[in-house]
Amino acid sequence: MSNAGPLTRTQRLLSNQPFCVFCGGNTLGSTVEHMPSRILFNGKQRPKGLEFPACKRCNDSTRKAESVIALLSRFYPDPATDGERKDFNKLALAAERHNPGLADEMRTDQLANLRRLGGAALKLPTWNFLHVGGPICTRAVNLFGAKLALALHYEATQRIVPSGGVIVLNRFSNVDAFTDEHAIDALQMFGAGKTLQMGKFEVSNQFRYSSVHETETNSMSAHVAVFREAMALMMVVCHKTEDVPDSVSGHFTIV
Ligand SMILES: [Zn+2]
Repeated sequence: MSNAGPLTRTQRLLSNQPFCVFCGGNTLGSTVEHMPSRILFNGKQRPKGLEFPACKRCNDSTRKAESVIALLSRFYPDPATDGERKDFNKLALAAERHNPGLADEMRTDQLANLRRLGGAALKLPTWNFLHVGGPICTRAVNLFGAKLALALHYEATQRIVPSGGVIVLNRFSNVDAFTDEHAIDALQMFGAGKTLQMGKFEVSNQFRYSSVHETETNSMSAHVAVFREAMALMMVVCHKTEDVPDSVSGHFTIV
């Protein structure tokens, strides 16, 4: 009997790029990783696109982190429909189950935040503050952001970041986006960006991204990803540490 037949989506993806794009390019991919994953989207409804070959280990490595990001990315605007509220409650429970202590970590003194912001608080659309800088949130954002950076670099350049490559990650909360000049400039520089789309179904109110890359060697790129109106990540990717421009600062990860 012959094995000939239509290729599955995974087979087709792996026939174009057999190696995992997340761990240096020496491990064969065996799965398809969706970046960002389905749980970040309302009702897990995610248009096709941004699908990448991944080894099993890389595919599984961000599961706990993604449950945190799915929650963080929904904190603004508030869930508007019954379906979205149900999603939110389910995700909050799952995120706490996968990351015990998360809910406690995010509690913050509302008045202290207002005092800290002073007049800038008037620029904010909501005064319901959360502490998103604790160790669980930070680790989740770093893991997820690094993986998204590797994915978007591959999408832009068709090159896998080799071992020794560097990712520089900056996270902006929606408070930053309204009050911090640096964040506002960075987000504007990248423009409105792209989203995932299938026919008329598009998710720009949930996820947008924008990339630029150096076109001679395809070894450097920069990206912004915006998740609803809750948070944004800015990512710079360089194949070599010495290529990281001096002006770039943030959380560094070596691949
Ligand atoms: Zn891998």
